[in-house]
Formats: sequence, C-alpha cells, structure tokens
Amino acid sequence: MEFFPELIGNGSTKNRIGSSILSGRIPHAFLIDGDAGSGKTTLALGIAAALNCEGGKDVLPCGECGVCKRIKRRGHPDVKLLEKSRERASIGVSEVKELRADMFLSATEARYKVYIISDADKLTPEAQNALLIVLEEPPPSVVIILLCEGTDKILTTVKSRTQYIAMSRFSRSELSTYVGAISAEAERLMRLDPEKFDTVIAESGGVIGRALELIDPERSREVKERRDDILAVISAISPKRSYAELHSAFVSLPTKRQDTLSALEELLRALSDMIKHKRAPGAEPVFFRDAESIENACAEMSEKHLLAVYELVLATHETITKNAGIAAALAKLASEIKLI
Ligand SMILES: [Zn+2]
Repeated sequence: MEFFPELIGNGSTKNRIGSSILSGRIPHAFLIDGDAGSGKTTLALGIAAALNCEGGKDVLPCGECGVCKRIKRRGHPDVKLLEKSRERASIGVSEVKELRADMFLSATEARYKVYIISDADKLTPEAQNALLIVLEEPPPSVVIILLCEGTDKILTTVKSRTQYIAMSRFSRSELSTYVGAISAEAERLMRLDPEKFDTVIAESGGVIGRALELIDPERSREVKERRDDILAVISAISPKRSYAELHSAFVSLPTKRQDTLSALEELLRALSDMIKHKRAPGAEPVFFRDAESIENACAEMSEKHLLAVYELVLATHETITKNAGIAAALAKLASEIKLI
C-alpha cells in the first residue's frame, strides 16, 4: 500500500499516518510543523482525502475518486481550511469560535469532517484556548489539523493534545524531480541551464517553496532583497557597531505591518540558527545556507548577546502584532539592543 503519493519525501511519516488511518486508530488532532513550502498543506489535504477516500486499494488517498478530487481542489463541504487573512497579523478568537460551532454540525456527506488551520502559529493565545475544548473532547468524526512554522507560539496544552508531525527537508534529488514536475519555469531552467538549476536547488535548503521562489526571477529578486535586509541587521547587532548603523538597518526593513512582522520572523530564524550554532555547531540551519556563513555572521557575538537580542526582537514582534507604531517600535528595539 502506498500512502500520500502527492507528497514527496517524508516516507516514515506517510507510512505512520497512513497505517493509523487504515487500522482505524485515527488521532483526532494533528500538529504539522514545517517551513513554508515543505508540503504541510499537501499532507493535510492528503489526510482529509485518505479519511474519506472511496477509491482503490493500492494507494491511499487514491486521488481518482470524486471525494479525492474535490478535496484536492478545496471544494469539499466537509473539509474546511482556515487561513490567516493577509491584512491581519493573527487569527483571533472569533474565527476559532465560528469554526468550533461548525464542528458540532453533522457532516454533509463525508465520513470525517476535517478542519485545517493553516497558520496555527498565528493563533492568539485566546484563540488557542478556545480551540482547547474541541481538542480535549472533539465532536465525533471530526479531525483537526493544525499547521505551523515552528511551535514556539503554540501553547503546551495544545501541543499535548495533538499528534506532532515534523515535515522533513527534501533531499536535492527529491527536490529536483518534484520542482521540475510541478513548475514549467523550473523544467525550462533544468533543461536550458542545468548548472543554475543545481545552484537553485542547493540554495533552497530542501524547501520546495524556497526553490520555486528562487526559480521565478521576479520573486527571486524580492527574496534576495529581503535576505539582504536581514543580513544587514545581523551584522549591525554586533556590539562593535554603532547605534546609527543599527538604527539604519532596522529602519530599512519593510514598513507594511505584515511585511515588518515577516522580516522580524526571518530575523528570529536567523538568530535561532546562530544561537544553536554557538551551543552545538553542526545543527541544520534554517535561515543560513551552511555552517560557515553562520560562523562568519556570529564571530563577534557571544551566545548571551544573541539570546538577549532574540528576546528583544520577540518582544518587538509582539508589540507590532498588537498594533504598535512600526517606526517607533523598531527605533526602540535598536536602542534596547545597544543597551545590552
Ligand atoms: Zn479517493
């Protein structure tokens, strides 16, 4: 039996979930953790389809039956997807309450009603608490799937009531094959400029979304500019740099709230790479490409300094989420870092 053929890699995860669905021992809630573009939504929709598939016996989900097809194009009434709206920084309690009320209605036609919350790490603590009731005692035949990029913001009570799944990074060959198959742009690059294609695959760190961004020239320029902004901030947080340099690096970050928040999140990932590197070199980086670039970035900084910066950036992210003025919050952050 083959499980979740739409998702590349992640062999043991696919087998584990597929077997539990086949045997009827179905967890009522999952917490799927992975980078953007790592296949979390593909897996979540795959689970929804596998729970309700009416098709063949060799592959689960079959991908061919009416149920599978409708779930894949997100047109099944019993499979609901909650995403954070682009204008908002978080998912609030009212949206969760609405979803929760829906869980108690009986299914329209499916065996299982599946609720996928795409940005679970963006649920406010109140929203997570509102979800706890259904995670503790879910209505019959309801499966809740939370997707997140990192579990720092997920309450322990939520974590303990869900089955945790970590998406794995893809190997270079898995990624080449897959990206070449789903993107015409990638397929063209692979054919016409295989060397550049290989570089893109290497630079994408095993994440599909990142590879696709790098292949699209327009996106690739944006991504590079975003990274350069973060790298400028990182070099400016060194105690050896002046306040003016630090301030100027922070005010160069994007000023639209959602973009500022994304930039700070990227900065937190970079800092976390650096802190892990200080503690135990060799851990797989998330923001940086390799150990050497982390080493260069944090040569002048102690673990203690990095930790203090991390805390301050996290606190600033929080205040900006709560609608603080962006320029003022970033200027304050720069002066606080200087005081460490
Ligand atoms: Zn099917």
